[in-house]
Amino acid sequence: MTAAMPAVSVVIPVYNEQDVLPALFDRLYPVLDAIGERYEVIFVNDGSRDRSPQLLAAQYRLRPDVTRVVLFNGNFGQHMAIMAGFEQVRGAIAVTLDADLQNPPEEIPRLVAAIRAGHDYVGTIRKQREDSAFRRIASKAMNRLRESITRIQMTDQGCMLRAYDRALVDTLNACHEVNTFIPALAYTFAASPTEIEVAHEERFAGESKYSLYKLIRLNFDLVTGFSIVPLQWFSLIGTLLSLGAGALFVLLMVRRFVLGAEVEGVFTLFALQFFLIGIVLFGIGLMGEYVGRIQQEVRNRPRYRIAAVLEGPVAAASTLAPAAAAAEPIGVPR
Ligand code: UDP
Ligand code: MG
Repeated sequence: MTAAMPAVSVVIPVYNEQDVLPALFDRLYPVLDAIGERYEVIFVNDGSRDRSPQLLAAQYRLRPDVTRVVLFNGNFGQHMAIMAGFEQVRGAIAVTLDADLQNPPEEIPRLVAAIRAGHDYVGTIRKQREDSAFRRIASKAMNRLRESITRIQMTDQGCMLRAYDRALVDTLNACHEVNTFIPALAYTFAASPTEIEVAHEERFAGESKYSLYKLIRLNFDLVTGFSIVPLQWFSLIGTLLSLGAGALFVLLMVRRFVLGAEVEGVFTLFALQFFLIGIVLFGIGLMGEYVGRIQQEVRNRPRYRIAAVLEGPVAAASTLAPAAAAAEPIGVPR
């Protein structure tokens, strides 16, 4: 480790967070300054359409020594933004944080301490989760499903306030999956993971950037990206249904000979058919999820595109007005 290498790199994905960013800067930097070690904050702007890039550029100009800003040229999703941030990490420990202040920056020193205690991955459990009842219940159900189909043991998979040691970040950087779920991916490689309880707050301002659709997609990524157990369950269901159908056939045959021709029960037959067709369609959809995943991997396209990285000493361009600076960002064009 060289003297210039930061002890801690904080990675923060940002998507339309203009109302939150000033408060985040006000809370985050004092916490990191108080640690008394070199640090860096890496913001990844995930194609925000509000003033977030301008605010990030202004913060970079204020603290260029400890701030780096990666500007995506589109919206590639929270997990891709974190992956892009990880590629920039120079520190010995990486901490991920949401921009909306749901994860209190004041918890960072405890995460760092847990890594220093010898763990390579520190997960978190939100003591009292400040989200809607629907999100809490759905998330509990998904946690349980994940427990049953993968060997990933996380009490609270959704909390993104986490810490990773350098070697683990390098391993994650070697993964080039298109749609992924970083806490789970990291867990599969971690040698000595641990979990600590952290506080959770309500979103400081603005709204959740996850629509119901995006949440469902994310959970499919978690399920199909880390396990083929759903497919195996499906072949099991298919086998059981075939056995059941065979038994029914024998029963109907016997009744045909004992009782004679029967034509009652047409609606029952419909209901049964719809149920079975539903299962078949679900199975095709499930297969499609896996096939789609394979297709995305095989295409092997770049996962995101970086418009610019703001880093290093602020150049003369810093005299630009904030809006102009973000439109024409200083830094290394990619
Ligand atoms: N985010 C992002 N890209 C997206 C959606 C979200 O970078 O497409 C960021 C967002 O700015 C925030 C974090 O990911 O920093 C978590 O998002 P949010 O708070 O909306 O999710 P929730 O807490 O509702 O799960
Ligand atoms: Mg949030």
